[in-house]
Amino acid sequence: MKKFKDKLIRFMYGRYGGNDALSKTLLWGYFIILIVGALTDWDWLWYVGFLALAWNIFRMFSRNIAARQKENAVFLSLRRKIALPFKAMLDRKHAYRTCPHCKATVRLPRKKGRHTVCCPKCREDFKVKI
Ligand SMILES: [Zn+2]
Repeated sequence: MKKFKDKLIRFMYGRYGGNDALSKTLLWGYFIILIVGALTDWDWLWYVGFLALAWNIFRMFSRNIAARQKENAVFLSLRRKIALPFKAMLDRKHAYRTCPHCKATVRLPRKKGRHTVCCPKCREDFKVKI
């Protein structure tokens, strides 16, 4: 058993491993697709699920760690862009506004009226109406 473990450690040395947000999402997506595929008769879902699993396995054994980290960073920024409007919609205590100078999203306390806000990223002032 120890010999197998040593071989496995030597085999995985220098490989990405795939313990990041993109890999976890791909794996969860695969399981969800499996369940939906079992409940419906959409055969094309099996191919989509297989692609997600194949991409995940490729990422696990890849030696190009920089490229895999870049993929994960792109995924995280996309996820943030998609999730922010939903988060802003559900958050009743804060208002979300975009800085006109640097385009950063600024979270403000939801106090009615006109305010002057200092952007925490670029330190420029701008006026907002809440
Ligand atoms: Zn700014």
